[in-house]
Amino acid sequence: MNEVKTPKKPLIFYYCVALLLLLLFNFLAMPWMAQRQVKEVDYGTFMSMTLDGNIGQVEVQETENQIFFTDKDNTTVYKTGMMPDPDLTQRLFDSGAEFTGEIIEQTDPLLSLLLTWILPVVIFVALGQYMTKRLMKNAGGPNAMMFGKGKSNARVYVKSSEGIKFSDVAGEDEAKENLAEIVEYLHDPSKYREIGASMPKGILLVGPPGTGKTMLAKAVAGEANVPFFSMSGSEFVEMFVGMGASKVRDLFSQAKEKAPCIVFIDEIDAIGKKRDGQYGGNDEREQTLNQLLTEMDGFEENTGVIILAATNRPESLDPALTRPGRFDRRVPVELPDLQGRIAILKVHAKKIKVADDVDWSKIARMASGASGAELANIVNEAALRAVRDNRRFATQADLEESIEVVIAGYQKKNAIMTDEEKRIVAYHEIGHALVAAMQTHSAPVQKITIVPRTSGALGYTMQVDEGNHYLMSQAELENKIATLTGGRSAEELVFHSVSTGASNDIEQATKLARSMITRYGMSKDFDMVAMETVTNQYLGGDTSLACSAETQAEIDRQVVALVKQQHAKAMKILEENRAKLDQLAQYLYEKETITGEEFMDILQK
Ligand code: ADP
Repeated sequence: MNEVKTPKKPLIFYYCVALLLLLLFNFLAMPWMAQRQVKEVDYGTFMSMTLDGNIGQVEVQETENQIFFTDKDNTTVYKTGMMPDPDLTQRLFDSGAEFTGEIIEQTDPLLSLLLTWILPVVIFVALGQYMTKRLMKNAGGPNAMMFGKGKSNARVYVKSSEGIKFSDVAGEDEAKENLAEIVEYLHDPSKYREIGASMPKGILLVGPPGTGKTMLAKAVAGEANVPFFSMSGSEFVEMFVGMGASKVRDLFSQAKEKAPCIVFIDEIDAIGKKRDGQYGGNDEREQTLNQLLTEMDGFEENTGVIILAATNRPESLDPALTRPGRFDRRVPVELPDLQGRIAILKVHAKKIKVADDVDWSKIARMASGASGAELANIVNEAALRAVRDNRRFATQADLEESIEVVIAGYQKKNAIMTDEEKRIVAYHEIGHALVAAMQTHSAPVQKITIVPRTSGALGYTMQVDEGNHYLMSQAELENKIATLTGGRSAEELVFHSVSTGASNDIEQATKLARSMITRYGMSKDFDMVAMETVTNQYLGGDTSLACSAETQAEIDRQVVALVKQQHAKAMKILEENRAKLDQLAQYLYEKETITGEEFMDILQK
C-alpha cells in the first residue's frame, strides 16, 4: 500500500495560527470597525454650530489637542483642533451640549461585546472541535481515546491465503513441528477443549538474528488461516509513561475481537527486560511490561488468541514473563545445519534464475555458520553479480563469490599492494593452509586468495568442513589455534620480522584458548569449573568472568602458555616443510587466488 498521507502539523501550529489571527483582528480590524466616520471641520464651524445650538455630544481630548462632537441628531461625528478659548465650557453649556468621554471608543456596545469577547471564544471552540475530530479520525474512530493516546497501530495481516506457509521456511524442522500443534489448535480448538487440554498462551521463539523467527510466526498464521497482528516491542515504548500500557490494552482488545488469531510481538526484550530495583529505572517500559503481564493473565485459556514473541536475548527477559501461564513454551530457532542451509538456499534460489549444475551442498558447506537471512542475501548477491556481468542466470562461481562478499566484503579492485607486501601476505596465507593441511582433524582448505577485500582483509584461507560439526575435541581446538598462528609463523620464519597482518588471527586464537580453559574444562588445574559464563548466547556470545583475581591471573598465564605451545608447533611444521612453503607461496604470489585442489596437488607432488 502506498497510501500517501499529508504530514500532520503539530498542535502548537494551530494555536499559533489562531493567536495570530486574533492579534491581527484586534490591531487592524477592530479599530477600523470601531471608528465611526469622522468629519474634520475648522474651529469656526465648531463655534458657529455651538452658537446655533446644533450640537449633541462633546468630547474634549486635551492631551491630544482635539475635540470630537456630534450634531444635534447624533448622526455625524465631527473633529476639530483645540484653540485657547477660556469661554468654551460656558458656551457649550449654554448650547445644551452633552459632555461625554465616549464618542470615539464606545460606538456600539453590542458590536464591541461581540468583537472582544464572543468572537475569540467562538474561534477557539471551533478550532478545538476541529482538532478533536481530526485526532479522533487518526486514532481510528470515536471509541479511541482522546488525542489518539494508546492506539496500538498493530499491523493486521488478515487471512492471507497467499501468505507465508511452513513450506516457505526451510529447515527448522523442530520448530515447525512444535508450532504445527498451534496451527492444529487454531483450526479446531474444540478438540482440545473437550479433553480439557489448554494451549500455551504464549510461545517464545528464541534464536540468533535472521534465523526465520518472524517468518515462522507468519507461517503459523498463514497455515492456520487466521488474522495476524504484528508489533515490535520497541513500538510500545513511548515518550510518555502510560502510553505503552494503553497500547498493550488496545492490542489485546483488538485481538480478542478477532479471535482466533495470532499476536506477534517481535523483539520482545525491548519491553520484557528484567525489572531491576535500581534507581532511575525506565517507568514507561516497566508499566508496559506490567500491562502485558496483566493482559496475559486476564484472558481465559482457549480463547483462541495465541501470542508469539521473538527475541535474541532470552536471558534478559523478566522471569514473570516466562513463567507458566504466560510465555510458557520456548521454541529454539537455531542457526541452520548443513541440510537446513541447503534447503534454505534452494528455497531462495527458486526466486532467481540459476544454472542447473550448481552444487548446493558445496555452497552450503562454504557458508557454514550462516543464518537464513545471510543465505538469502548470498543468493541475491549472486543474482546481482550475474546481472552485472550481463549473464542471464547465476552460476556456481557467482554463488561462491557472493559467499566471500558476505564474509569478507567486495574485492578492492584498485588497492595497490607493494611487491613486498604481496609476498608477505602470500607467505602468511600459505602458512595457515600448510599448518592446517599437515595436521589431522583440520577442515580441508577450499581456497586461498591474496586479493584484498573491502573488509580490510588482505587475503584469506577458506577452510570448509565436509559435514556437520557439532562437537570439537581438544585436539581439534588445539590444531585450530596452531592453524591460526600459522600465518604469523610463516612471516617469522621467512622474513625474520612480524607485521600487523595477524591481528585478527591473534584475537581469534586468544578467544579460543580462553574458552578452552575457562568454559570447556580443558585445563588440568581448573578441572570442570566454569570460570566464565556466556551472557549473550545469540548475539556475539559475550562472556563475563566469575572468579577471583588470583584465578584470573592464572587463567591469563595458561592462555598464554597454550597459544605459545601451538605457535611453536606451527613453527615446527613450517620449518619441516620449508621447501613446500616457498613453492606454494610463490605459486600463490603469481596467481593471487588458488583452489584447494591446486594447493593439494603441489603439496603432494
Ligand atoms: P528473525 O526474525 O529470526 O530475525 P526473519 O524471520 O526476519 O529473521 O528472517 C529474515 C529473512 O531471512 C527472511 O525474510 C527470509 O528471507 C530469510 N530466512 C531466514 N530463515 C529462513 C528459513 N528458515 N527459510 C527461508 N528463509 C529464511
